[in-house]
Amino acid sequence: MECIFCQIVAGNIPSDILYQDEEVIAFRDINPQAPTHLVIIPRMHIPSLANLSEAQLPVIGRMINTANELAKKEGVSESGYRVAINCGEQGGQLVPHLHMHLLGGRKLSGGLG
Ligand code: AMP
Ligand code: ZN
Repeated sequence: MECIFCQIVAGNIPSDILYQDEEVIAFRDINPQAPTHLVIIPRMHIPSLANLSEAQLPVIGRMINTANELAKKEGVSESGYRVAINCGEQGGQLVPHLHMHLLGGRKLSGGLG
């Protein structure tokens, strides 16, 4: 098992886990790009958004709901935040395990790439 996020799921790599349930785990990004920068992942190893099957679609809703709840806990729900999923090389995806970024706590750039 060489996937770094699967290692986090398995507890083999320490991480600052803020939330977990039977489907998703959320932890602080190790290299934060904003005061709040969390990573939300499915426990299941899905390589990227492009590999998501129709049967797996509900996990995206769980990830979004987790992002919304953690945005409240982090105190950025009112001020605003961004969720982003990078997909593939040109989409800026470095870790090949589906994940959603939650960014907030400062005025984010208007650009998306
Ligand atoms: P992406 O470019 O969308 O694949 O983003 C991967 C993110 O995972 C980056 O923001 C990294 O800083 C973050 N990351 C990589 N390894 C770890 C780790 N061990 N713990 C927490 N975040 C990590
Ligand atoms: Zn994985």
